[in-house]
Amino acid sequence: MSDTPLPAPDGGEPYLLTPGPLTTSYAVKQAMLKDWGSWDDDFRAMTSVLRSRLLDLIGPGRDSYDCVPIQGSGSFLVEAMLGSFVPQDGKVLVLANGAYGLRAAKTLDYLGRACHLLDMGDYLPPRGTEVAAILADDPAITHVLAIHCETSSGILNPVEEIAAATRAAGRKLLIDSMSAFGALPLDPEALGCAAFVSSANKCIEGVPGFGFVICRKDELAASKGNSHSLALDVHAQWETMESSGQWRFTPPTHVVAAFLTALDAHASEGGVAGRGARYLKNRDTLVPAMRALGFETLLDDRWLSPIIVTFFCPADPKFDFARFYDAMKARGFIIYPGKLTVVDSFRVGCIGQMDHHVMTRVAQAAAEALTEMGVTSAAPPATALEEKKRLAA
Ligand SMILES: *Cc1c(COP(=O)(O)O)cnc(C)c1O
Repeated sequence: MSDTPLPAPDGGEPYLLTPGPLTTSYAVKQAMLKDWGSWDDDFRAMTSVLRSRLLDLIGPGRDSYDCVPIQGSGSFLVEAMLGSFVPQDGKVLVLANGAYGLRAAKTLDYLGRACHLLDMGDYLPPRGTEVAAILADDPAITHVLAIHCETSSGILNPVEEIAAATRAAGRKLLIDSMSAFGALPLDPEALGCAAFVSSANKCIEGVPGFGFVICRKDELAASKGNSHSLALDVHAQWETMESSGQWRFTPPTHVVAAFLTALDAHASEGGVAGRGARYLKNRDTLVPAMRALGFETLLDDRWLSPIIVTFFCPADPKFDFARFYDAMKARGFIIYPGKLTVVDSFRVGCIGQMDHHVMTRVAQAAAEALTEMGVTSAAPPATALEEKKRLAA
């Protein structure tokens, strides 16, 4: 990797240290300065290239899989996947350790599909042994849904051991890889994954507007008639794309154009490995610099993802998150409030068009913000450290 700083994305807007939408390159934004007809051959060709290039990212198993893009944000894709691949009489084991797992369970509820929720709380990882025990106990479970990186805490869930337990029990695996695909390796064939979903505005660094399902071709063929929804029927979208090259309803044309430019940048950065290495370096620059100020991460190093990091808020009574947020924004960085129930926290995303030079400045900005508030130590409250110890056990 060269150490030339990435150019600032624009003319002075703050960096989005948020897990999507995130900071995109100028080239990605520029790719949208044109209108395309949805029916026109040029746009159909773009759709076809998009599908094929996404499949290139999954490696040697690509011939057994297909890629179906669908309009909407990531949650639309999770709903499309659950509604299309889980038959109406199926039952899903949802492995939740944060907001996105709980949202998937709620989605199944709306869809009228049976669900067994394993709720690990805010940030404990669901382990393979727990999955195996639940599956052995309940033969009615047909599918397991895992969240690859649970973006609400930043935990990187152990998908390999979850996949192994699911395979051993003869059930089907579905993965929400929204905030991981494109930066963390995901080989669906090796995992025995029936389908997974991701979206345009996360690790591929496109703008929001569509997501995609990557699924086994045999699962796709078998999914006809399962969906509860017209707009979110993966099989119907696929059938139309195969026969006419078109999306069924108005496609997000500009978003697709931007995404193709984002895919070019992804490839020139070295694909999944290159992108993942930059994010890892972002995290490994940010975390020690924040620790040097006294901040501590929620997660033990073992579960820290290179996607987003949760920090405890300092115990110092002079610390005020709203002021901290504004002070960071004034220095060009938009951070993210935390989502934990037990202790106060905030999150800093490591994904998007930024590199470790930027992360060094993020920690400098945090130091200045603390000084501005009169906070002398960023050390978290004792209760937070007890929580953390519980997690490490
Ligand atoms: C971003 C994300 C989603 C989708 O959220 P939207 O707000 O609908 O885009 C789903 N799951 C995970 C893990 C995510 O990070």
